Amino acid sequence: MTEWQRMQKAAEQFQKNGFQAICFASGAEAAAWLAEQVQPGESVAFGGSVTLAQISLHEQLQARGAKFIEAAPDMDAAARRQVLLESERADAYFCSANALIEKGWVFNVDGIGNRVVGTIFGPGRCYIVAGANKLVPDADAAEERLHSCAAQNCRRLQKKTPCAVSGECTDCESPDRSCRVYVTMKRPGRQMPTTIVLIDETLGV
Ligand code: SF4
Repeated sequence: MTEWQRMQKAAEQFQKNGFQAICFASGAEAAAWLAEQVQPGESVAFGGSVTLAQISLHEQLQARGAKFIEAAPDMDAAARRQVLLESERADAYFCSANALIEKGWVFNVDGIGNRVVGTIFGPGRCYIVAGANKLVPDADAAEERLHSCAAQNCRRLQKKTPCAVSGECTDCESPDRSCRVYVTMKRPGRQMPTTIVLIDETLGV
């Protein structure tokens, strides 16, 4: 089975589970389609994502005239918290996932929790965007992927965790632990129209 066929089969499973799902051959095509889903002037927010940066979605949405809810680099902690709260009321919320499985479930692990909240309840609709590399066979593989990408993120962000040094997860007790909130979406939240966007490229962490 080709990667494209595997993605399409998974998309059918996501649809059976109540998600909308669509496949693209490239990040550029996906970003153009995602931007078209937003009307000029609608508010948009991002859950931190390397994938979204790689497909240049921010630029596409800017050109579309979307209104961004996002923190400025010079904001203090209180102002940043306010922005995170406002993000959960965006018309459209965009993020990636740590793993998706072929039976049509989404797996995420979060440190603060704002990213997963944005996928469950609050925004008008949500788009979960992922490269084919994040589509794994089953829940065990997803669990393994959660921790391997958390370890890579800890290393990238220079966290004081064992995995930032060794690259291996030890289910640590570190105060800097980023793996705190684990969410498995077997169906979208009842009030959250959610679209899974699969891209036939290697994207994100
Ligand atoms: S639980 Fe700790 S060691 Fe494991 S990936 Fe998360 S932060 Fe790293």
